[in-house]
Amino acid sequence: MSQILLQKEEGKEENMNGHEIFVFIEQTDGTIEDVSLEVLGKAREIADKLGGSVTAVLFGENVESLTGEVAKSGADLVLYGESSLLKDYTTEAYAKVFEAQIRKRKPDVLLIGATHNGASLAASLAIKLGSGLMAHVIDLEIESDTGKLLGSVPGFGGSIVSVCKCSKGDIEMATVRPGIFKQREPSTSRIGVIQRIEADLKPEDKKCKVLERSVKRTEELARTERVVVAGLGCRGELSLPKELAEDIGGSLGVSRPLADKGLVPKDKVVGSTGSSLNAKLAIVLGVSGAAHFSSGIRDVKTVIAINTDSNSQIFKLADYCVKGDLFEILPYLTAELESSSK
Ligand SMILES: Cc1cc2nc3c(=O)[nH]c(=O)nc-3n(C[C@H](O)[C@H](O)[C@H](O)COP(=O)(O)OP(=O)(O)OC[C@H]3O[C@@H](n4cnc5c(N)ncnc54)[C@H](O)[C@@H]3O)c2cc1C
Repeated sequence: MSQILLQKEEGKEENMNGHEIFVFIEQTDGTIEDVSLEVLGKAREIADKLGGSVTAVLFGENVESLTGEVAKSGADLVLYGESSLLKDYTTEAYAKVFEAQIRKRKPDVLLIGATHNGASLAASLAIKLGSGLMAHVIDLEIESDTGKLLGSVPGFGGSIVSVCKCSKGDIEMATVRPGIFKQREPSTSRIGVIQRIEADLKPEDKKCKVLERSVKRTEELARTERVVVAGLGCRGELSLPKELAEDIGGSLGVSRPLADKGLVPKDKVVGSTGSSLNAKLAIVLGVSGAAHFSSGIRDVKTVIAINTDSNSQIFKLADYCVKGDLFEILPYLTAELESSSK
């Protein structure tokens, strides 16, 4: 039997204690976005260091059933607002209800997963609240002497990482890239307070109407352990890279020009305008290693690169460099992998 201890409190308004970190929990049709739980885990870690509290904020139509999972995943308090006007995400409606909660509780920090919706919500709230916003951070820390939030923001295609802090407004805000932080193991013994909040909305607050949603479940490159990345050196011939990806039980990623040519969907792109890999292994085929690409493989544990040009930038970044023609090397590699797996 679950041992979770959940208290339900109607109308509780005061802050819990000290530094309060708000985390937006994004859900779609009753499924919480992974990045929201990743951010919640990081918020818990920061709050434990500072002796503060974590408040998760969740909106939707029938979302009460999700609040237990959120409490178990690290929130001290879960605020949830329900309305048919909050069923589908729209920036205007979500920002209105969220702003009211922020003005009421005055949290110190707001963290949001950098999904399309999350980025839009964060930007809108930053304008409404007149605060700074660190966008798409890849790390978060606390400055020891001031207690302020420091966010690592990649710039110039990931060739530099600037450490930023918010100096404007009463709240420090950041959006966090998916796949950067780890979710906490849900704890069945956590005590969480669940509180319903009033969603004061009128139909005219919702400026967009969702007519149809086509849900495309895509492989999330950021969370894949093994990736084969194909570049222009593959000359648009992707059957060998795909076969190699299958042999190592991984996924296929590409450099951006391949997606620009329409050879693969855009969600396969690795780099500053695509996914940042957190894989254990990436085999990079016929990619030069331009700065915009390289930011996407910074956090890969082991990079193996195959390239004909021994002066290519990718060889400066890879752990293992194989100089040669990928069309000659790959058939041997896949044959070897396939025979060893028999
Ligand atoms: C604002 C902006 C954002 C961008 N964002 C991204 C991004 O997110 N991701 C991204 O990838 N790019 C991005 N780019 C593009 C980026 O700058 C590079 O142009 C791109 O990464 C180059 O792709 P590539 O390495 O596949 O091709 P190339 O640079 O043409 O390199 C091909 C490589 O293949 C090697 N090669 C050729 N034939 C063979 C063979 N037979 N066997 C082995 N090796 C071979 C060559 O030696 C060469 O090193 C961005 C650009 C801009 C301006």
